[in-house]
Amino acid sequence: MSENCIFCKIVAGEIPSKKVYEDELVFAFHDIHPQRPVHILVIPKRHLASLQDATPADEPALGRLLAVANQLATEAGSSGGFRVIINNGEIGCQEVPHLHAHIVGGDQPVGPMLKRLD
Ligand code: 5GP
Ligand code: ZN
Repeated sequence: MSENCIFCKIVAGEIPSKKVYEDELVFAFHDIHPQRPVHILVIPKRHLASLQDATPADEPALGRLLAVANQLATEAGSSGGFRVIINNGEIGCQEVPHLHAHIVGGDQPVGPMLKRLD
């Protein structure tokens, strides 16, 4: 756990979240400011700032993170498809420095969303 990391605090239960999934490697919860009807964040439980910092030791968590995306999107009501977005670093417009995949969807096409989620 990284001190002062809000997503580490969410994993630890120190900051409340609307949890949708948890296993030994990843944790998923609803984004506090949903940009689409389905907007879930999936994060590795172990602190990892971004893909820029990933090492081979992170590969099981990164694989799991993608592997659960379809299950979470479908259960949340996006059975027709979804988008996975990972912002990395300043150029990637990442705001929270604990790696997270945005799972976004709903009953309408998500749109281009090339820069941030709008
Ligand atoms: P980024 O811009 O880093 O890719 O996305 C950060 C995301 O985290 C944003 O969509 C923002 O709404 C979400 N977020 C920030 N703080 C919290 C929080 O305390 N709880 C939850 N559930 N989401 C958060
Ligand atoms: Zn963290």
